[in-house]
Amino acid sequence: MELYNSLFHDTTALLEKGRPTVWPYEPNNACRSLENSELVLQKDAAYELGASGKGSANYVLFTSSPELVDRDQVLLYGPDLKDIHGDCDFARIVLLRVGVLDGDDEKVYRTLKDIEFAKYHVNLEGYMVRMSPESYREQVRLSRQAVRKGISFRQVGNSYIKAYKQDENVLNATVIFVTAPGFDYAAMKANAKKASDVTGTLTHILEGLPTDCSVCSLKGICDEVEGMKELHFGVGAKGTDKH
Ligand code: SF4
Repeated sequence: MELYNSLFHDTTALLEKGRPTVWPYEPNNACRSLENSELVLQKDAAYELGASGKGSANYVLFTSSPELVDRDQVLLYGPDLKDIHGDCDFARIVLLRVGVLDGDDEKVYRTLKDIEFAKYHVNLEGYMVRMSPESYREQVRLSRQAVRKGISFRQVGNSYIKAYKQDENVLNATVIFVTAPGFDYAAMKANAKKASDVTGTLTHILEGLPTDCSVCSLKGICDEVEGMKELHFGVGAKGTDKH
């Protein structure tokens, strides 16, 4: 079952216009991690990625298909951190191949949320992340010192992959950064909302939500995402799709 697959294809289409720099995962080339998130004050900041008024998006997609994700790697579309000189657009998209999705266990879906939470354990020196789950944005303030010391997306991506791979269900992780102007960040944000709706709907389904689609508030997302209704009617009581 591949509920997020259409979002993988939408993401590929959005990025098609660019040519990424690609780095294979190197666990030993990550940023210095901190116990807690570092506060980077405005006066010490070099610039902000995805600052207000700029494009910004952040989402995670899951699959069990090795055709969609078959390696651990970092991709960058646009300038690297040392080559950015002012606030700019920013997206961070994570593609995960998750082995446990091959099973048909309720636990499978509950683990997705846990895996998503890995991002809250990434605290990097001079790289202050502010997430806004309701608006699907991610804003990052870089300290001048970190930029001077040569922090790079290659290292930041390696740090994220390391965090995601702490979960044994994650088989492969591809972390994509987008900083170039001209990409459709609004469409990426729309994908982020859809991904979050899919995960949210799964949770509701597994919590035993009533199975009458005609009165269900999640009908919009279930109509759009292939496999969702089959999942609900297969997992819970028999459903009625009266439309
Ligand atoms: S399958 Fe139907 S009842 Fe179940 S969550 Fe989707 S819309 Fe609601």
